[in-house]
Amino acid sequence: MKNHYHVFKFGGASVRHAQAIRNVAMIVHDHKKEKLVIVISAMGKTTNALEQVVSLKQAGSNCHNELAAIRKYHEDVMDSLFPKDHRIWTMIDREFENILTTQKESMTDDQLYDQVVSRGEILSSLIVSEFLLQEGLPMHWVDATEYVITDNTYREGKIDWASTESRIQTLKPALEEKIVITQGFIGGAPGKQTTTLGREGSDFSAAIFGSCLQATAVTIWKDVPGVMNADPKRIKDAVTFDELPFREAAEMTYYGATVIHPKTIKPLANRNIPLLVKNFDDPTLPGTIIQESKVRHLPPLIVFKENQCLISCGVTDYTFINEQQLSLIFQLLSERNIKINVMQNSAITFSFCVDYHEDKILPLIEKLADQFEVYYNTGLTLITVKNYDAKTYQEYSNLKGNVLEQSSRSTLQVLTKY
Ligand code: ASP
Ligand code: MG
Repeated sequence: MKNHYHVFKFGGASVRHAQAIRNVAMIVHDHKKEKLVIVISAMGKTTNALEQVVSLKQAGSNCHNELAAIRKYHEDVMDSLFPKDHRIWTMIDREFENILTTQKESMTDDQLYDQVVSRGEILSSLIVSEFLLQEGLPMHWVDATEYVITDNTYREGKIDWASTESRIQTLKPALEEKIVITQGFIGGAPGKQTTTLGREGSDFSAAIFGSCLQATAVTIWKDVPGVMNADPKRIKDAVTFDELPFREAAEMTYYGATVIHPKTIKPLANRNIPLLVKNFDDPTLPGTIIQESKVRHLPPLIVFKENQCLISCGVTDYTFINEQQLSLIFQLLSERNIKINVMQNSAITFSFCVDYHEDKILPLIEKLADQFEVYYNTGLTLITVKNYDAKTYQEYSNLKGNVLEQSSRSTLQVLTKY
């Protein structure tokens, strides 16, 4: 039996300034009859700024200026939303004190990262919660580290689903009377240390709450009209999907679409909970509903993935690429947790394309060079056209800068100097 729980997620852009937070209040107000859980990301670009603070702490340097800038940003927003004697001011003071005094001693770099970077979500959720309360909404703020339980893989916490499920059930009595507000992106490891779930992980958090509550729906509020078939900044006539099957949405994220975090779909699809992507600036727009459905004849879906590196491994004598050599390459990739985005084999070379992270890829190339003649190109873009038609096939397979092309019955991929 489904309950009428509904999870809302507001991303960083939806809480980036006072006006945006007022807009959150308006949206929540319109839905206050539902049993709502609200998941909040850090304001604007706070997570990036906190990453800077972490780097300085890791280097043992002073981070006062960086921290002061983050603080000013939050306080400017608070100035527009709250009177000077509101309790939010002491709450936020406490959080900044906490960030300042978190030291690297006895922590690994990743552990320190999570303790500091997670504060962005704590700050924003406190500000939004206190503002909604001031607007007369019955808020119940909870610390996500007590509900989203992970292992201790810092920066990429793996969910302990059984514990998380049972912890989240305990929110149900509160949800009878109040709106629960919490943080995206963060979880708690055994021993109470904070973990994070990977960058942009708040969508995943919303899916975790939605799945554990068997919610009626999860809604992600974004600065786009819904899920589009291409990035409107790149393609003028991009269209918004009314409806998208779970599978299509999952594949889109696999190919590099950033509209939703790749881990979001699975927990919802497993429990058949629809995911709505709605426009934050105009909630009257229908948005996109992602659900189990049989929509056919989707328009071509075009995804651009930048910063790609094409690596070609050639055999050095007059033999051909064999399975043993392939398995050696795959072994090296799997050990280093490097994912292949596209690959192609020929008699004497095996070529594959990966995201170019210098610190991971250069050592890989060095290792491969022990066995193969290795060539590589960086600065490439992988364009995937799913459900291509004659027109898009023509257009993308004939791009001037193409260095690799591959197509199946439904999907065309080209790697190009774009
Ligand atoms: N604030 C986190 C990030 O920027 C999580 C999120 O926004 O989803 O990565
Ligand atoms: Mg974000």
